[in-house]
Amino acid sequence: MYVWQQAEGQRHARAAVHFGSLDVGATFAALCGSEPTVGENDIHGPGKPWLDPTCLSCDTAFRRALGIPAPRPDATPRAGGLSKARG
Ligand SMILES: [Zn+2]
Repeated sequence: MYVWQQAEGQRHARAAVHFGSLDVGATFAALCGSEPTVGENDIHGPGKPWLDPTCLSCDTAFRRALGIPAPRPDATPRAGGLSKARG
């Protein structure tokens, strides 16, 4: 199971090792391979939503781990994968 965690300007995904939230100053292993530190603005609450953009590497790894397809495959510039064979 994975959860999202905002840190260092992006919203990363991490393994949910416990159900509590991380404290200011905590570091965690993000799915993208980075180990960001949770800052004061990364603690969210009712009047304090996470507004930083999603880390694309974490998003890709998250979807791959859970088998969720990409939201807009036509928006990704990658070639192949979705092309239909025509004969
Ligand atoms: Zn990340």
